[in-house]
Amino acid sequence: MRLSINSLSKTYSNGVQAIKNVSLTLNEGMFGLLGPNGAGKSSLMRTVATLQEADEGSIQFDGIDVLKQKTELRQVLGYLPQEFGVYPKISAEQMLDHIAQLKGVSNKSERKELAGYLLDKVNLAKDKKKNLGTYSGGMKQRFGIAQALIGKPKLIIVDEPTAGLDPAERNRFYNLLSEIGENTIVILSTHIVEDVSTLCSRFAIIFQGQVLYAGTPDDAVNELNGKIYSKSISKAEIKDYSSRFKVISTQLKAGQLYIRIISETDPGNGFIVSTPNLEDVYFSNIGQKTDINTL
Ligand code: ADP
Repeated sequence: MRLSINSLSKTYSNGVQAIKNVSLTLNEGMFGLLGPNGAGKSSLMRTVATLQEADEGSIQFDGIDVLKQKTELRQVLGYLPQEFGVYPKISAEQMLDHIAQLKGVSNKSERKELAGYLLDKVNLAKDKKKNLGTYSGGMKQRFGIAQALIGKPKLIIVDEPTAGLDPAERNRFYNLLSEIGENTIVILSTHIVEDVSTLCSRFAIIFQGQVLYAGTPDDAVNELNGKIYSKSISKAEIKDYSSRFKVISTQLKAGQLYIRIISETDPGNGFIVSTPNLEDVYFSNIGQKTDINTL
């Protein structure tokens, strides 16, 4: 199974070019689409999910020409949008029953069994009679996955699913997502680097509508071996260091300010070579991460 996105471009009517000549190939497993807000992640995902048109390019999935055969694609798609609205006054069980009906499961007892199975899978079995309006953010997201799994989709798209979840909820959500990768392609968009390092076998960095990197997290990190240096400096020195070195992040640790820079050669000046991580990959691609405003 393979999803291939070829030279895709999209400009909105207000002139914003949200997708610029994007090409990506995805195989089975979890693929992370990593980028800051406004990078174009949702635009790309909505296009793959057949919810909006592209201006140029093509998308193929398992023999389906996605931009032309929308109905065929929708039959094998599970989608959790960024803004996942729920009807607050009905229960999870009722809502799943309704969605299953819309997806063509006409037999009532089959629907009940399916809803029970899915709610159990996302660990909401004991809360299935509660109204969705009473659910926490994490519970809503897990419910969102349950509804996306109806119909045994082969392609699952989840848009920024961990934004707004607390660490415990995020962990629960990671466990759930890691179980659904088999025999499906899962695309997960996020601005949280940890989502990618925890879950994804492959990923792409998207910024200003363009793909800046695509590959495995390990390869991306290994490419930076011996090129990341760190040093503790004072707040007053930040400007000077930023003008002399390629600073990729500034971080406070136990009240001490550390900067990380990327350099092909030993920068001297008391810098110590540091083990690279996926955050370094991300910020060296999209530009500096700065906590200066919060100092
Ligand atoms: P992300 O999901 O990475 O935050 P989006 O795809 O939502 O990025 O947005 C990419 C760019 O396109 C942003 O500049 C955003 O303001 C713009 N944009 C998104 N949707 C629309 C729309 N429907 N009409 C006009 N501009 C849009």
